[in-house]
Amino acid sequence: MESFPTSSDVIVVGGGMTGLAAAIYLARAGKSVTLFEKAASLGGRAATSNHDGYLFNRGIHGLYTGGATEEVLNELGITYTYGSPKETFLLHEGQIFPFPASASALLGSHLLKLGDKWELMSFFGTLSRIQAESLAHMSVQEWLERTIKHPVDRRILASTARVFTYCSNLDLVSAEVFVFKLQLSLKHPVLYIDGGWQTLVDGLYQAALQAGVCIRSGTRVTAVRTQDGQAKGVQLLDESVVAASCVILATGPDDAAKLVEAGAYAPLRDIVDPLIPARVACLDVALRHLPEPRYPVVQDLERPRFLSAQSVYSRIVPEGGAMIYTFKMLDPMQLSDPKQDERELEDLLDTVQPGWREVLVRRSFLPHIEAVGMLPTARGGGYAGRPGPEVPGIANLYVAGDWIGSGFLSDPSMGSARQVAQQILASEKQAGKPETM
Ligand SMILES: Cc1cc2nc3c(=O)[nH]c(=O)nc-3n(C[C@H](O)[C@H](O)[C@H](O)COP(=O)(O)OP(=O)(O)OC[C@H]3O[C@@H](n4cnc5c(N)ncnc54)[C@H](O)[C@@H]3O)c2cc1C
Repeated sequence: MESFPTSSDVIVVGGGMTGLAAAIYLARAGKSVTLFEKAASLGGRAATSNHDGYLFNRGIHGLYTGGATEEVLNELGITYTYGSPKETFLLHEGQIFPFPASASALLGSHLLKLGDKWELMSFFGTLSRIQAESLAHMSVQEWLERTIKHPVDRRILASTARVFTYCSNLDLVSAEVFVFKLQLSLKHPVLYIDGGWQTLVDGLYQAALQAGVCIRSGTRVTAVRTQDGQAKGVQLLDESVVAASCVILATGPDDAAKLVEAGAYAPLRDIVDPLIPARVACLDVALRHLPEPRYPVVQDLERPRFLSAQSVYSRIVPEGGAMIYTFKMLDPMQLSDPKQDERELEDLLDTVQPGWREVLVRRSFLPHIEAVGMLPTARGGGYAGRPGPEVPGIANLYVAGDWIGSGFLSDPSMGSARQVAQQILASEKQAGKPETM
């Protein structure tokens, strides 16, 4: 068996995009870094499986530009090619209408009456002036009821909010999240990555190897070792111990809490237990061809469902084939029935892409996957209610991921990975330790 160091400057637990990014920053600054991933391969929720050339991301994924994900990938020199969706449609009472995203689409819309158009135009005209943070304690639902009077306009914005926040319960989620994402989306496109998100994972993996990160996949960490209030390393499944001056937990919140409480002291449990994740049900279908090319991206106005034939815009299928990702946003406060969720997504495909069953090559259903580790709620005060990267009471132990700090989806993952790396380097500098590079 290949051996790995019995001590490192830094240990990273988790080989998803967060763990890989943090490891690269630190290794490039001269630290010796060992990364442990319990799964056989890297990538976590960003991994893509290839079935005869059809690329299945782990549920629908788009790179929302203008945030930390794009910045960190650029800083680390990770390159990728992509396409961007050109047009979104709205499904309303069985009929399909163009999304009134531009002034001309708005004016020409058959879904909206004159008064609706006027209200939406003035809403989009003032949107950039809203301070999203000032809405942190208000729910999306309350904000929409205060701001938008016309029922059809409110319905369009509510369905957009469900898609943007990955949550069907708009009474729960903070308006800060939606308004900030809406403002960003007007200036920065969403990208569908050629080769799926595995392209990003592979780029990060290569960069980590080049930086000298020691990567051990198929190796589960079972506990963080601490002594006198300091992280001292980690314990592995075979009970061996690897020593380190700093440990970064780039896992989901519950895994992080378990790793810390396996020691004598459990400071993360109280932080993690109240967190509400955003979960979705995803039905993805690989097809011999796209039955209805007119409607590649469709948002349901009545129900929390969305569909995107990403293969129209990015290279993720063999020549002539098609891949449609669909998802249903779940309500974190309700138990959902996976069979019913799957039927609802099939029904969306039947309505928008009739004939898909006849050209089906392969399907994948993920009933209840965590898309966001912590949903910023109105009650919790939006992003300010998210935990920070330090673990109280344990020096040199850090957490990073989509549940840390501000931003949504992979933005807080990549943002916290960079922040933790910077914090470790800054604290070592303060303590007078020389940088090796
Ligand atoms: C359905 C879905 C849709 C999404 N859509 C988008 C999108 O459109 N845009 C976007 O930006 N983001 C999206 N995301 C989020 C995005 O995938 C993640 O933010 C990103 O992949 C970063 O994840 P991570 O590295 O923080 O966590 P993960 O990918 O979950 O990685 C954590 C890793 O830690 C490992 N691990 C856990 N415990 C241990 C242990 N004890 N020992 C060793 N290893 C351990 C796990 O195996 C895992 O590989 C979506 C996610 C899902 C599920």
